[in-house]
Amino acid sequence: MFEKVLIANRGEIALRIHRACREMGVRTVAVHSTADANAMHVRLADESVCIGPPAARDSYLNMSAILSAAAITGADAIHPGVGFLSENADFAAMVEEHGIAFIGPSPEHLRLMGDKVSARRAAEGFGIQVVPGSAVVDPAAAAAEARRIGFPVLIKAAAGGGGRGMRLAHSEAELASQLPAAAAEAKAYFGDGALYLERYLDRPRHIEVQILGDGQGGVVHLGERDCSLQRNHQKLLEETPSPALDADARARLAAAAVGAMRQLGYKGAGTLEFLYRAGEFFFIEMNARLQVEHPVSEMVSGIDIVREQIRIAAGEALGYGQEDVSLAGHAIECRINAEHPVSFAPSPGTIASYHVPGGLGVRVDSALYQGYTVPPHYDSLVAKLIVHGAGRGECVMRMKRALEEFVIAGIDTTIPLHQRLVAEPDFIAGAYDIGWIGRFLAAP
Ligand code: ADP
Repeated sequence: MFEKVLIANRGEIALRIHRACREMGVRTVAVHSTADANAMHVRLADESVCIGPPAARDSYLNMSAILSAAAITGADAIHPGVGFLSENADFAAMVEEHGIAFIGPSPEHLRLMGDKVSARRAAEGFGIQVVPGSAVVDPAAAAAEARRIGFPVLIKAAAGGGGRGMRLAHSEAELASQLPAAAAEAKAYFGDGALYLERYLDRPRHIEVQILGDGQGGVVHLGERDCSLQRNHQKLLEETPSPALDADARARLAAAAVGAMRQLGYKGAGTLEFLYRAGEFFFIEMNARLQVEHPVSEMVSGIDIVREQIRIAAGEALGYGQEDVSLAGHAIECRINAEHPVSFAPSPGTIASYHVPGGLGVRVDSALYQGYTVPPHYDSLVAKLIVHGAGRGECVMRMKRALEEFVIAGIDTTIPLHQRLVAEPDFIAGAYDIGWIGRFLAAP
């Protein structure tokens, strides 16, 4: 096992990783920007190193600064967390070249799955149905491809992520006018202007499968997560199991995902994302890393996913099979952002008072504390409220009462939005799709 893990991230996810290390008796190194000198992950880690100024490209994305911090502190592994460098194959390769373990999949698998076009091709090779679409298209050939696929089509960035840079086209004229802007946006966000087209599915659900593979033949799934409640393609609330699946659909989905990861010889935690409509699953992408919404799967399985990532990276086998994994009850996560609950304007600032909910089945993953100042430079996610209950009804009631108890004063948060959501009859009935929030927010 590792002696010291450097956590190349910030906020609640850095704390989440620190907690797993602590429970495993592994020492931790925090890295931070100058804006995060007073952050909770820095306070709790055994050691910390400042790696640069506030802008992420100069600190949390600064590969040489992070590698230097690992060398100086003698860390024997790096956990990249989510976002930032977590899916950067060059970084993973560089870490390993320095004799440090990268807590994640191999650089080859990161490369394969990081490019969405090659990931689609790989999924097809594993016998998984993908959304009808194209390979990378150049603008001159796009209209013919779109006719073949059928309008409406989504223009997507091959290197895309985080719901950014997608554009919808209902016609050839719209396609022609959207392509240059989409390419420019892809280049600006992801440093790669390559685009592909996908059939736009009407009102599907987003359902994903959590996988753990040890690269030694062991692969298990921890069930699915329904992440259909999204605003601008960004997830707001996730739950497991999905209220939309029956036992047969659930079994088909899990078998497809596990089969693919077995064929690939995948090592690490990963998520296969699908759109689901009328009983059919269509693969959209794989995230070869930890995901923000992993806690709901932990709550129903009792398995610490970060601990498993660390064990796998240290060369351990899973040591259990699918028959040993039991999924019990229901779990829901609300992502609480430092944003105005109606206008969604970012709301950085100082936390005047802070009180977290508690009680049976309630978990809060957050790096906030009273007096802390949320900096304006990073993602607006400040807390994840996760609840577990015996069944979905109990879980929804528990989420309602936990949201009532949660106090984050001094900044705006999306808690009031979540309170409205969990009181909606459609949500209570589990009857929602990926466009539901958009329609809900647009309603007078
Ligand atoms: P990203 O990597 O940016 O998160 P994804 O491919 O995972 O991009 O898509 C993000 C979200 O966009 C999905 O969860 C879904 O809501 C929507 N989406 C993606 N592809 C399609 C599609 N072909 N049809 C309809 N909606 C889609």
